[in-house]
Amino acid sequence: MKRGINLNLKAEPQVNAYYNRLYDQVAEQYAWAEKAKATGRDATALVESKPAMDLADRCEQIIGPPGVAKRYRELFAERKDRLNCIFTIFEEILDKKLGDFETAEKRLEQAVKTSLVLVTEGVVVAPLDGVPSVKISKNYDGSPYVDIYFAGPIRAAGGTATVLPLILGDYARKLLGLDRYKPTDEEVERYVEECAVYDEIFTRQYKLSGEEVRKIIRGCPVCINGEPTEEREVSDYRNLERVHSNRVRGGMCLVLSEGIALKAMKILQMAKRLGLDWGWLEQIIKIGKGGEKEINVEPSYSYLTRIAAGRPIFAYPSRMGGFRLRYGRTRNSGIMGKGLHPATMVLSDEFISVGVQLKVERPGKSAGVFPCDSIEGPIVRLASGEVRQLHSLEEARQCLDQVKEVLFLGDLLVSYGDFKQAAHPLMPAGYCEEWWLLELQKQLAEQKKVEGIELGPVLKNPKDVDGATAVELSLQLGIPLHPKYVHYYKALNRDELLYLIEKAKAANKVFDETRIVGAELAFDEELKKLLERIGLPHKPVNGALVVGETQAYPFLKTVGALADEKPGDTHDVLECLSRLSGLTIRDKGGTFIGARMGRPETSRPRKMVGNPHVLFPIGLAGENIRSINKAMNSQDAKRQSTGVVEVDIAHYVCPGCRKTMPYYYCRDCKARTVLQTVCPKCGLNAPKEKCPKCSVPMKHYTKRKIDLNAV
Ligand SMILES: [Zn+2]
Ligand SMILES: [Zn+2]
Repeated sequence: MKRGINLNLKAEPQVNAYYNRLYDQVAEQYAWAEKAKATGRDATALVESKPAMDLADRCEQIIGPPGVAKRYRELFAERKDRLNCIFTIFEEILDKKLGDFETAEKRLEQAVKTSLVLVTEGVVVAPLDGVPSVKISKNYDGSPYVDIYFAGPIRAAGGTATVLPLILGDYARKLLGLDRYKPTDEEVERYVEECAVYDEIFTRQYKLSGEEVRKIIRGCPVCINGEPTEEREVSDYRNLERVHSNRVRGGMCLVLSEGIALKAMKILQMAKRLGLDWGWLEQIIKIGKGGEKEINVEPSYSYLTRIAAGRPIFAYPSRMGGFRLRYGRTRNSGIMGKGLHPATMVLSDEFISVGVQLKVERPGKSAGVFPCDSIEGPIVRLASGEVRQLHSLEEARQCLDQVKEVLFLGDLLVSYGDFKQAAHPLMPAGYCEEWWLLELQKQLAEQKKVEGIELGPVLKNPKDVDGATAVELSLQLGIPLHPKYVHYYKALNRDELLYLIEKAKAANKVFDETRIVGAELAFDEELKKLLERIGLPHKPVNGALVVGETQAYPFLKTVGALADEKPGDTHDVLECLSRLSGLTIRDKGGTFIGARMGRPETSRPRKMVGNPHVLFPIGLAGENIRSINKAMNSQDAKRQSTGVVEVDIAHYVCPGCRKTMPYYYCRDCKARTVLQTVCPKCGLNAPKEKCPKCSVPMKHYTKRKIDLNAV
């Protein structure tokens, strides 16, 4: 890396300067590391981790071939389409234009791996470990086919990358003029059996039926092979000539179910781009034309397992009143970092503090939480019977000792990326201001006019819209009622809702001139419970339940207490309310998420037991703990020497003083030593793979006596 380079980023000058400074400092540190390594005192004389400026660089350094970085950059500058560039690189490696590999098999393997690194952005191990080898094997009729070996780590590559090798394999088949894989009946049944065994070992997102497996194996033009990954063996279809192990091939099973079955649409698209016919896939997988199949998401209890005694559970799975899903992110949240209202933190007796780890129901397993005060705060019932929503940390602290019950915990801010990362389908969101604003803007964009309302402040601060304005906007534009005035009506069934409506109709309305500024509902226990369940703020005053100025008018409007509509016979409470009010009432709840306290105290640095400063082979010396100190003081059987051990140890020779030593650096001559190749039988020292006399493999180590006190 050169120092003093200007990266010339297309960015503001200060941003460019910042990156130039970062680059320069990295270059400086590399220069120092190279200098230090060059002294030869370390095991390698070069800095092992190479700096990589971009994807192309990373790819070339991880897997090669040389020149791929330059070529990829050229292609990308021209086409701006990653997949397109990858396909071309793939062709060029097969064509010997890139890299230098003798056999078609080697070229194919390199091309598949390079493409995989590029598609996974070079940040996962999959290309190296997930596809250990690609071969060109022979069918029983003698024709060659593409044979791809998968291993367990392919899981980490993600769906698309899992199936990419198959598509590329088929493309190579076309380019190299190979035949397709022709499985025997035994081989097909072996796949069926193996997948079923694998399903017994692991529970998975998608289980393939035997019939589906048969269709895939017969349809797929390349062979989905694999390394054995599990200890379990198949019992029926054993010892097949072309399947090298009876053990279960986990990588292969993953590719079938989580690759082909779940990514069928994606495969079809990619195949089409390369002019390949993968139409056989269509008849197998029951995936709608729209894409992924619909998944029914049930409450999940798994986050409650292995809970430590005394650790609070904040919300049960998907239970109303738990954390309400709110999409979005703040500057302090992100992947695995979720947002909570600071008032919620106070209410948890500050069990939840900034950065604390929660186990959550979804998405993913756990989250660090961070405060965010622009989402909905908790709704509580105080000792006085008053129900109110808390809007700030201070307010929560002030009334903390009067809180009798937390009715709603408030929002949990989750970024879209968390769902994507966990491969969890997106869940419905409760109605919120950002959604409402979009609906408002849509209507305005369609040139709808609003009379008597100043829109500027509403658009600027959609969280702060008063009740009368909210109702008026809904009436004039037909947009749903503003979320601030929508409550959790879905907590009620139809009968309960009708009871609430009846009581609201009978309420005493408090007027300020023509404006409704309060509603006094006659107190009764049942009604109080219903109001608490929908989270409507109210206060018991002199035998009445008083809904205050903010909520009174929109509430009465919502439940139809100001008109004479009939609720109809629908059992959908929201539809019922929409009919009564003439406004669209959306679901405020959406999705509730359960959570419990994590065990942050259990995470600590992973340390080795004991604090070894040095590792040195001492054979059986040093008693049962193999202590070097003890070995140094131990005597041999004849009590003639102290601290001498006989061990297999590296055989280096110093080019300066010609001494044999176990080190790669001679401290006397201050020079690198040279590793020798020695026959373990006759001691011949020659750079050969096998000893010409004894025909045993040569070794880089020999059994020698080492005086530990001289080391
Ligand atoms: Zn020397
Ligand atoms: Zn020999």
